[in-house]
Parts: sequence; structure tokens; C-alpha cells
Amino acid sequence: MSRPRIPVAIAGGGPVGFALALGLARNGVRSTVFEKAPGPAPYARAGVVLSRTVEIFRSWGLLDAIGAEAHRPDALQVYDARDDAQLMRLDFSLLRDATLEPQPLFLPQHRTEAILQAAAEATGLVETRFGEEVVDCWHDAGGVCVALRPRRGAPQETVRADFLVGADGANSTVRTRLGLSLEGETYRTRIVLAVVGIDDTRDRLPWPRLRFDGDEYLAALRSARGRWRVIAALAPHETDAEALTHDRIAAHVRATLGAGPFEIEWASAFNIHRRHASHFAVGRIALAGDSAHLSSPVGGQGLNGGIADAHNLAWKLSAALRGGDAMRLLASYDVERRHALVTSAGHFSDALTKAMLSIPPRRRRAALAFAGWLLRAAPLARGVLRSGMLLDVRYADSPLFARTGGWIGRRAPDPDLAILERAALVLHRLSPLDLPVFDTPLRVQRLAIEGERAGYWGTRAPFAALVRPDGYVGWFGRRPSPATIEREVPRALGFASEPRDE
Ligand SMILES: Cc1cc2nc3c(=O)[nH]c(=O)nc-3n(C[C@H](O)[C@H](O)[C@H](O)COP(=O)(O)OP(=O)(O)OC[C@H]3O[C@@H](n4cnc5c(N)ncnc54)[C@H](O)[C@@H]3O)c2cc1C
Repeated sequence: MSRPRIPVAIAGGGPVGFALALGLARNGVRSTVFEKAPGPAPYARAGVVLSRTVEIFRSWGLLDAIGAEAHRPDALQVYDARDDAQLMRLDFSLLRDATLEPQPLFLPQHRTEAILQAAAEATGLVETRFGEEVVDCWHDAGGVCVALRPRRGAPQETVRADFLVGADGANSTVRTRLGLSLEGETYRTRIVLAVVGIDDTRDRLPWPRLRFDGDEYLAALRSARGRWRVIAALAPHETDAEALTHDRIAAHVRATLGAGPFEIEWASAFNIHRRHASHFAVGRIALAGDSAHLSSPVGGQGLNGGIADAHNLAWKLSAALRGGDAMRLLASYDVERRHALVTSAGHFSDALTKAMLSIPPRRRRAALAFAGWLLRAAPLARGVLRSGMLLDVRYADSPLFARTGGWIGRRAPDPDLAILERAALVLHRLSPLDLPVFDTPLRVQRLAIEGERAGYWGTRAPFAALVRPDGYVGWFGRRPSPATIEREVPRALGFASEPRDE
């Protein structure tokens, strides 16, 4: 059966696949999501939506739906589960000047996924095909062919697409078909995660709750009303089967939440990794989310990093489909996101994980209390929060940048601009004669800023800056001529082949 060519085919209907479909649809681009499972996954997995992701969700109009279900604490407070002593408190209000969304959201992953899927499908531009597995893919003239394993009884199908994105998880078929390996390391510890239901006063216990008197890492976090995530490191020589027995999980629940009835909703044992694909894009095929990178769940960067991929990629595919330089746009996705994952975001999660694993268990309480004491210093706490919430992820280089350094490659410093969904040309103290005339297929709004808002950029001099649709600064010029602006803005959005400096 032959079908019309799809603008963007997405392998994988997980959170990243549907986030990408939604981001594309909000840019007016149609996509089809192929998901091998017969329906949405019911697993909780990731539980935290970090501030940068909340900003993205806000720009996509999801906050009402997510806010209605999610828990939004004012601070991260860490407790010793044995005596409820508070060992650390980090106030999210410290981020008030940096973002409109200083508080992270706590919501089980399957609910985040369901909200993304519903929002994507409501646009009318997203087709979801459950029960269809991508088994192969290859480039052909000007596009990509995607081979699908048919649903039982259905005829085999190959669809054609302008672009394919593999959002098909850690064991990605698309990554394998591209011949890309996952580079990096697997940490020595295996982890068991159990989602348990609790229906009594223990549901009001403060959290996250850690135990420090055992030999292994053990924590409990509340993910929703009456629902807790209990996370434990497997003991040396403990098998998955042993770690997943009811008795073993019951012991963890007792140690973190106290005695009483509970119900195991879901439990899994898994390795934790710090790995990334050697490329995030090859030709017209890109990887996003776990197919491109795996990080330790410590710090919650897995799901959040994948949503950031989708946000970066959505406007670039939209620009490519509107006549932009597809290869340069996709190469920029590869360089920007791979570098970000391997350096800033990856380092944060790696440093936390290694600290957690390397400090002997019985010294962890003292180490955490000491860290809590250090973090009473607001500047240090602010820096840690900014990194942890992915607000400081920086793109050090990109084929879209005419040059690097300064504001270029950073999230816009003005919090209002970091959540814009459309590109903006920010102009400060430029005379009307300096206002450029240019047109690109991606609409660029012009914003003249003065006073306090100009202060975010740390200069009183006249300047122009391009904030891209993903909230990142793509170009910045002091006292630029109209001709410079006319040349550089389209280039930074991928509408000319070679970048050039002023
Ligand atoms: C047990 C566990 C606990 C975790 N805890 C956390 C946490 O606390 N914090 C955090 O941030 N992250 C956590 N993660 C990681 C987080 O869940 C992932 O980063 C996130 O799910 C990535 O989303 P994704 O859409 O890229 O991939 P996935 O969620 O894996 O979705 C991929 C989808 O693609 C489908 N698929 C696969 N192959 C094909 C194919 N060939 N054709 C079509 N469809 C296909 C799959 O069925 C799946 O639905 C955890 C992961 C696990 C496994």
C-alpha cells in the first residue's frame, strides 16, 4: 500500500516522541508517530519535570493540564528517614530572577506522557500508529524510507518521509540501523525502583527520605498522592530476582516509610549508564531522547534531556521543511545537543551519581549535612539549582553560530524571552534607521527593549540579539548595521548556507 510522503516520521511513542510531535505541530508540521507497543506505557519511571522543561511545557500551553495533577514543592528538602531530621534545604525561590518557573513539577512519567500525547493529537497534525514497529530505515533521493513490521495480519509497509527521528528508547532500532554505538560507561551499581501505593498517614511524611545506616543507597520520594517511588541499590551479588521479591521491597518500604500496608504497583531492576551516541543526526535521520543518550536517574536528567532534544529539533525540522538548509540545521542539532549532553547536563548528573556511589554509605549522612550547610550560601545554592534545573545548559558551538562566546548559545537571560515559542529579534537603543528589513519563512517578531529588561543582557550599548524559537540566543551584535542584521538573522535560523562573522 503506498501512502503520501510524511513530513516527519517518529519512531517511538514515549515522552520524547510525543514531545517532538507536539513541538512540530505547534510549528505547523505534520508527523506520524510509530509505536511498537499496542498502547501507551503505564510505567512511572521519571518523576520530575525540571524548571527548564516546565518553561518548555509553558510555551507549549501545557501548564494547566500538568499543573492540575503535579505536585510543586517550594523547596528541595532532604530528610533522614530514620529520624526525619532535615539535612538539606534548597529554596526554589532562589531562581525567581532566572526563570518564570522556579519550581520543578513532580508527576509520574506515564501522566506526563499522556498529557503530551493528548496535546499533540489535539492539534490535528499528529497521527499515532500504535502496534507498528520500525524495523529498518534508509535514505533515498531527498528523503527517508521507513520499514514497518505489520500488525498481525496487516500487509508489510514501507513509508516515505522527509525526515525520520528515532525516539525509540535505549535499545533504539534507528540508532542500530545507522550503525551508531553508544559511547560511555555503565556505573557499577544496579538499581531497583518500586512504585508503591500507600493509603494512610505515611503519605504525609516529608520527602525525599534517605536511609544512611544500611550498606546500600536507599531512598523514597513521593511521586503523586498515595504513590511513592522507593529506590535502592542492589547489594553486591544480589540478583534481580532477589531484589524484586515482595519481602525485599517490603524491607525498603519499612526502612524509608515505616511499617504498614502498601501495594507494589510496578518494580524494575536496571543498570545506570552515562552513554551517548557518536552522532545525534546522520543525513535526514536524527536521534532524540534515550536513543541518543542515557544518564543516571540521579538529578532527573533523562526525561528532561530528551524533552530538550525535542524542543531543539522541532523548530529546526520546521525550518528545514520551509526551505532552510536541512543539513546545516540537522548538523547544528547534533553538535548542540550532543555537546550539551556530554558536558553540562551530563557532568551534573555524573558528578552527583559518582558522589553518591563513592562516599561510603555510613558517611553519606554527614556528607549530605555538610553539603546542606554549604548550600546555605545563596550564591552557591543558586548556581547548583541553575545547573540542576538545566537553566545553564550552553551550546558551545554550532554550525548555525557565526561566532561563539558571549550570549551566543545560551538560554536567553531575560526569563520572558526564554519561554517565547517564536523567534524574536531583540533590539536595544537602535535608531529607527537601524531597524532591518528582512523576511524568513519562520516568523521573527521584533521586540524593542529598554530599562530593566535591557539590564538582563549586561550592557547599556545598543545591541541586537536573535532569540531562537527554542529560547536560545542564536546571534548577538553590538551596534550592528541593518545590513548585518539582515544577513545574520536568517543565517542563524538556517536559511542561508554558510555563516560568516561581522
Ligand atoms: C526504571 C527506570 C527508571 C527511570 N527513572 C528516571 C528518573 O527518575 N528520572 C529521569 O529523568 N529519568 C528516569 N528514567 C529515564 C526516563 O524514563 C527516560 O529518559 C525516558 O523515558 C526517555 O524517553 P524516550 O521517549 O526517549 O524513550 P522511552 O520512554 O524508552 O520511549 C521509547 C518508545 O519507543 C518505543 N519503541 C522502541 N523501539 C521501537 C521501534 N523499533 N519502533 C517503534 N517504537 C519503538 C517503545 O515501546 C517506547 O514506547 C528511568 C528509566 C527507567 C527504565
